[in-house]
Amino acid sequence: GETSKTRTFVDGTWLDGNPGLIGPRSHAIWQGTSVFDGSRWFEGVAPDLDRHCARVNRSAEALGLKALVPAEEIARLTWEGLEGFDGSTAVYIRPMYWAEEGGFMGVPADPNSTRFLLCLYETPMQPPTKGLTLGVSPFRRPGPETMPTAAKAGCLYPNSGRAIMEAAGRGFDNALMLDPVGNVAETATSNIFLVAQGVVKTPTPNGCLLDGITRQRVIKLLREAGREVVECSLTVADFLAADEVFTTGNFSKVVPIARIEGRDYGAGEVWREAREAYWRFAGINASA
Ligand code: PMP
Repeated sequence: GETSKTRTFVDGTWLDGNPGLIGPRSHAIWQGTSVFDGSRWFEGVAPDLDRHCARVNRSAEALGLKALVPAEEIARLTWEGLEGFDGSTAVYIRPMYWAEEGGFMGVPADPNSTRFLLCLYETPMQPPTKGLTLGVSPFRRPGPETMPTAAKAGCLYPNSGRAIMEAAGRGFDNALMLDPVGNVAETATSNIFLVAQGVVKTPTPNGCLLDGITRQRVIKLLREAGREVVECSLTVADFLAADEVFTTGNFSKVVPIARIEGRDYGAGEVWREAREAYWRFAGINASA
């Protein structure tokens, strides 16, 4: 929320709170050229921070912005800023780039106007006490011909937002989103996995879903633990027929799904195996 402790690195200094940074002519708010990343600091660890810092720079370049700050420097700044927080709480780590000026006709970004900030703010980790519910969204994920899906770009999120609003209006926690041809892509905010006869399956990154850093990590950890993990095309029917469904994302890590539309899932065990493997990888002793 607005009142949680926030520190932002911008223009060479750390600022507290939520200072104003952009003006009425800022390109980012008119034409939407902004990219960001999200990762977590909790229990003293920041799993895959290096990969999140590298991704925000790839996202910037995908939109024609300048990746002004090397990934290693974003990570160093993160640790510097985290010294202002006490370890009893979790922090959300949000680097971003945006364009201040437009180029030709004001539409493309002027790369020379790229700006960077790194925002750190307290946000507790959510215990996965009960699973989330998903409604199948009428709104789809765009393909790479339609939107810059290789970037974690702000402009992709109003579509996720309307999917969540539609699902919430029907009583669900989040939305299951399909790709342009009708296969399952991901939820509005996380990647999705199913378990059928002990085999873990997840949609192939086909340009219509974010190939999440937590997704890649969990696939690796499950395979190392001897689980079969398959990336393939999956339909809503595949998910409804599955024994278990779970999601991955930096914010909440591994979370079980309790229901998709009218289909309830019992207490699965693979999500817990994945979550515990993630916590071990992160170097945290306490189990999930
Ligand atoms: N899909 C979408 C649309 C997301 O916003 C996120 C969160 N970044 C994810 C998947 C999960 O990606 P990651 O594991 O890299 O956080």
